[in-house]
Amino acid sequence: MTSVENQFIELMKEIKGYTEALALIHWDLRTKIPKKGMEQRAQVIGLLSEKIHQLNTSDQMKALIDQLKGVTKDPIIEKAVEVCEEEYNKSSKIPVEEFKAYVTLRSKSETVWQEARSENNFALLQPYLEELVNYNKKFATYWGYHANKYDGLLNNYEPGLTTSILDKVFDKLKHALSDLVKNIAESKIEVDASQLLHHFPKTDQEQFSLAILDKMGYDFDAGRLDETIHPFAIGINPKDVRVTTRYDENDFRTAIFGTIHEGGHALYEQNFDPDLYQTILANATSMGIHESQSLFWENFVGRSRHFWENHFDLFRKIAPVSFQSIPFESFFKAINEVKPSYIRIEADELTYSLHIIIRYELEKALINGDLDTKDLPEAWNQKMEDYLGIKPTNDQQGVLQDIHWAAGDFGYFPTYALGYMYAAQLNHKLKQDIDIEAIIKSGDFEPIKAWMTEHVHRHGKMKKPLEIINDVTGEGLNPDYLINYLTDKYKTIYKF
Ligand code: ZN
Ligand code: ZN
Repeated sequence: MTSVENQFIELMKEIKGYTEALALIHWDLRTKIPKKGMEQRAQVIGLLSEKIHQLNTSDQMKALIDQLKGVTKDPIIEKAVEVCEEEYNKSSKIPVEEFKAYVTLRSKSETVWQEARSENNFALLQPYLEELVNYNKKFATYWGYHANKYDGLLNNYEPGLTTSILDKVFDKLKHALSDLVKNIAESKIEVDASQLLHHFPKTDQEQFSLAILDKMGYDFDAGRLDETIHPFAIGINPKDVRVTTRYDENDFRTAIFGTIHEGGHALYEQNFDPDLYQTILANATSMGIHESQSLFWENFVGRSRHFWENHFDLFRKIAPVSFQSIPFESFFKAINEVKPSYIRIEADELTYSLHIIIRYELEKALINGDLDTKDLPEAWNQKMEDYLGIKPTNDQQGVLQDIHWAAGDFGYFPTYALGYMYAAQLNHKLKQDIDIEAIIKSGDFEPIKAWMTEHVHRHGKMKKPLEIINDVTGEGLNPDYLINYLTDKYKTIYKF
């Protein structure tokens, strides 16, 4: 290694050090912190974030990038330089004063959003939203884009994805899903999810959740499971990747499917190639690929027939007596119930992507100046009626439900639906390569994890999202895999 390469590694180590401290602070903030400690903590988070920003945009960083770009012979360093340069450009193009004003606006707007939501009053939030949209339009211009201004924002979360790709796949997905929703609404099959709502003690839910995490291959010597209000997984470093869950003693689905979901995120972060550890490449390549891992485990494994055929006995052994009389078929249907609902985070596997497509179409229109923030509630409600067949009667049920826009996050929503499509595409290939049925039956899912590690996890940021999908499946993003999977699954359950 040359001395310049060494200096570059040392600088990345410093950035990674601050990033790790920040991650641990975030985990603590969301799990263990006493209420009175929060104010001071917020200041520390601000200080550390500022430090990381300074290092990413420092003259030293710029000099090292310039010296190594096109010169280094090491493919890992070469890729790390590329990623650092993207970060440098992204962070240094926005004038400092403008960014500071934006950060202040954003935190004010998040507070106003809470008030607007609890008072069910969109008008309170509207002027803030307007300003946030204007900032994001400007940022998209600073960062640059080819065909569509929205691409400049999308690229932050899903590098390489464009509006022209998304327009095509989302349009196809939207029509297919809306048709399935109609077929299910007309089905005569009774699905009764209320039979799942018996009391299920927290400690027993935890026991089942831990057993499944263990089967998935989650490394408990490099992680832990804790309780929180809003569940998440967080990689402090690849040897310390933590999962959190929420226990609802009257609805076990929250903790069990939530833990499997976060466990899928955690497997990604635990299995980067050790050769990448010294660099910033030991990170997820995108939000969409991250979500593909959690959704794969939650739905394609955790809500599958094979899974429950083989784990229903274990479930019944741990579950209270009130669950013992539920027949398998009716249990399986209940955990796969489809029911259009107003709230995204409560949506089922089938309707979820429709919630996302609505948000995508609206935020794209906002950024491109085709929609005014004041017309947002009506546009939202109309799309809900068109795609899901239900129309919100107030803004709490509608446009005020998510914090994302109030926090200035435009271009983020599509990654959730991309995660579903990637997961379906990966699942299709995985089933050709290995006998997933036999593996689930064996009770040790290690070969599934090993396949994902080989094809997805280990690469970290060495590959862009669409490179991963292309290399594994031999084609670009294709919504047909998700459409076919959902059609097969729900035809069998709802018999249409
Ligand atoms: Zn169309
Ligand atoms: Zn997730």
